[in-house]
Amino acid sequence: MTMPVTEATPLAVTSWWFDDAMAYDRSPASPSLNGRFEADVAIVGGGFTGLWTALLLKEKSPGLRIAVIEAGLCGSGASGKNGGKVHGYWSALPGIAATLGPDAALAVARAGSKAQEGVRAFATAPGRDVWWREAGNIRVSAAPAQDVKIETAIACARDLGVPDSAIPLSPQDVAARIQSPVFRAGVFYPEAANVHPARLARALRRAALEQGVTIFENTPMIKLDRGKPNRVVTPSGEIQARHVVLATNVALASESEIAPHLTLFSSYALMTEPDPAALEHMHWTGGQGVADFRMFVHYFRATRDGRVLMGSGSGPISHTGDNTDPSLTMDRDSAKRAVVGLRRLLPAFNNAPVAQVWGGGIDISADRLPFFKTLPGGTIHYGAGYSGHGVNATYIGGQCLSSMVLGRKDDWTSLPFCTRRLPRLPPEPLRTMGGRVIRASIIACEEAEERNKKAAWPVRAIASLPRAFGLKIGTR
Ligand SMILES: Cc1cc2nc3c(=O)[nH]c(=O)nc-3n(C[C@H](O)[C@H](O)[C@H](O)COP(=O)(O)OP(=O)(O)OC[C@H]3O[C@@H](n4cnc5c(N)ncnc54)[C@H](O)[C@@H]3O)c2cc1C
Repeated sequence: MTMPVTEATPLAVTSWWFDDAMAYDRSPASPSLNGRFEADVAIVGGGFTGLWTALLLKEKSPGLRIAVIEAGLCGSGASGKNGGKVHGYWSALPGIAATLGPDAALAVARAGSKAQEGVRAFATAPGRDVWWREAGNIRVSAAPAQDVKIETAIACARDLGVPDSAIPLSPQDVAARIQSPVFRAGVFYPEAANVHPARLARALRRAALEQGVTIFENTPMIKLDRGKPNRVVTPSGEIQARHVVLATNVALASESEIAPHLTLFSSYALMTEPDPAALEHMHWTGGQGVADFRMFVHYFRATRDGRVLMGSGSGPISHTGDNTDPSLTMDRDSAKRAVVGLRRLLPAFNNAPVAQVWGGGIDISADRLPFFKTLPGGTIHYGAGYSGHGVNATYIGGQCLSSMVLGRKDDWTSLPFCTRRLPRLPPEPLRTMGGRVIRASIIACEEAEERNKKAAWPVRAIASLPRAFGLKIGTR
């Protein structure tokens, strides 16, 4: 179904990507679990994290019996509905260096490069049609107030001795790559790709099956009995396994041990119908991903068949980390911001009909970096906190979690993702209530700045509170 770009565009439950991937991948759903199943490792969640963990475990220890259970179909969560922008941490260097110091920031960025190699090797292997295109990522200033971020990015890369990781672009350089009346100067990050995320998730599922991983789809875990072995209980059966990996993404925000470190925001994205002529008109034929410098970022990329995906990371904060909160997927105002972003940033696409609009929860950690940890007892492992940036980082998750299951201390488990002491988020109700007020203020500031104005001072004062309190989220 196609429709014009209007504020009344209905919201999809899945995503354009997932529907397309399921039409392409005609394999039947894996059976759901009935009865008792014994495994060495049970992985809960069939998104990128769970599937990479399963595949990398098979690579590191081929004899392991591994079972993955997925509440719906593999790839039906965030992994099948994201922007498909694949990059590590070079563009996040200033923030990470401020939090963890320069050496750890470089270690994190280099791990992202290794992950990029891992995802690339998988995505480009023969027989995998996952729309991989590697042409770098541009961050562009789309308002005078955003210009300052350019200098910060360039100076940080220079000071850390990696100037080639962030290359300044003049307004003319930007226009040669993508033309828009509101784009100013920018930064080019060479290490970045675009992918069809749902096809990637389904290809990971297929590869895991081929490697002998047992997958149960339409099989939610309803209880986890910790013990020796652990028991993963489902509506019609259970898996007994020595090790359990919880790869359930936003659902982890409700786990008592993890909740102090994880909150849920949301992101909304739209996919247009194909309009290759509009891409030509904008000179945007090089395949680069793009994002502006808002904190509630607009992220966008073109597809192989001439569509544009436009996302807005400005969706609501869920109530006390509840991943079933409808505002994570059904907030019309956030969907409208994606539509408004398309119109303002890429007016050449004003007349392109929208194929679908959808939203999804984003697992945000207190320092915006993912974490991979083991619960006391040593046999239950988990990974979360991707903070809206997981297509590359879930490969890191798979490497870390697989090594943790095997008890290995290696280059992956020595990274800050596994070793750092996790910062805590403010307690409830301050976290949800305060977060919502601050979010609204930041949106008001960023929208005013796009009109080259300033929001009223009380709004600006509220928007600056997170920085004043030394927080790493909600800071512009
Ligand atoms: C709109 C949007 C745009 C994004 N854009 C980008 C982007 O461009 N680039 C980027 O790097 N990142 C992006 N992200 C983030 C990225 O998609 C995620 O970080 C990543 O997909 C997380 O993978 P995952 O496997 O941990 O989670 P998921 O893919 O959500 O997988 C978790 C799975 O666990 C299952 N599950 C949950 N509970 C249970 C249970 N009890 N029993 C069994 N199964 C269960 C779920 O059904 C789900 O399939 C975006 C996210 C969204 C929502």
